[in-house]
Amino acid sequence: MAESIAIRNAGKEYPGGSQALREVSLDVEPGTFLVLLGPSGSGKTTLLRCLAGIERVSEGQISIGGKVVASGAVHVPPERRNLSMVFQDYALWPHLRVRENVAFALRRQRISKSAATGKTLDMLKRVGLGALAERYPNELSGGEQQRVALARALVADTGLILCDEPLSNLDADLRERMRVEISSLVREAKATTVYITHDQAEAFALADQVGVLERGRLVQAGTPEEIYAKPATPFVARFTGLAGELEVRVLGRADGAVEVAPGTSARPLTVPAPMRIDAQSALMLVRPTAVSLCDAGNGDHHLAGTVADVAFRGRGYDHAIDVAGHGRLTGVFARTRADRGTMVGLRLDPAGCHIFPA
Ligand code: ADP
Ligand code: MG
Repeated sequence: MAESIAIRNAGKEYPGGSQALREVSLDVEPGTFLVLLGPSGSGKTTLLRCLAGIERVSEGQISIGGKVVASGAVHVPPERRNLSMVFQDYALWPHLRVRENVAFALRRQRISKSAATGKTLDMLKRVGLGALAERYPNELSGGEQQRVALARALVADTGLILCDEPLSNLDADLRERMRVEISSLVREAKATTVYITHDQAEAFALADQVGVLERGRLVQAGTPEEIYAKPATPFVARFTGLAGELEVRVLGRADGAVEVAPGTSARPLTVPAPMRIDAQSALMLVRPTAVSLCDAGNGDHHLAGTVADVAFRGRGYDHAIDVAGHGRLTGVFARTRADRGTMVGLRLDPAGCHIFPA
């Protein structure tokens, strides 16, 4: 049965004084696929290990399935939290065969040996390792080892699955395939999943809910669509993909919006502004999806620039555009190619432009 998670003001200070988590609060509904996204050192692994019970929180409280597992003197050990974990480095037993590694997860369940063997072999088939059950981990590729780790996590049928960057040691091509497999296998298991990654594309592709961590703080939580459409801070916006940043003049203010112009002669645009902008100038963070190319001569563009680079992407082309006085915008997609050195017009879609105080 899928577990709920409730985290209240969790803090973690390691011996030696490094403050890895600060005032983290988060609720996760049963069956949710939650991705914790953040750069290296932001506290992702620490939060996952506190959920697992491998680390103790220094402050706050964690409940799993409505039961307090960590708070003050309370610390329920990992094996009594109804969860399983997939580690970044797989953490397989080198001296056990593939099937023994997977069956290990069933050792505490009161089922017969033959039932355990049956479950193990079924699970190995489901992750595509039916033929490799007798091998040892050192006789497997990295991708196959990761599948064993996944099978081990799934076979016990726990209500919570925790994954610590399970794809980060795989090649790009395999990573994409494994991502799809993890997504479907874990969703079939109907468990609640907490999955951590530093890769924004992976996070958005997998998640029902995303939590963004910055230096130990949970700075935003929401669906991938919400986070992309309404980044709470410049950090979140930058970490989830920008074409670039423009300093803009503020020409006027209305309810929840500002009128800005990206340059002295540029055509103004009105963009949503969830926070008050009082100054004469502001910072506008622009999503790649908000920039489209047009003819430099036709006059209804917001900016003009010179194509610095163009990269073929199969579906079309990604352009890097140098805009005088503003630096470079990257990842500007168009179905047709604009050659290096040509002048182009840029139209901005207000929905993908995010205003913050300069
Ligand atoms: P992430 O997984 O996001 O890269 P971590 O949770 O591993 O981040 O680390 C968060 C912070 O806590 C970092 O500053 C890291 O140096 C520190 N840290 C992690 N583990 C320990 C530890 N065992 N002892 C002391 N500091 C640690
Ligand atoms: Mg980590």
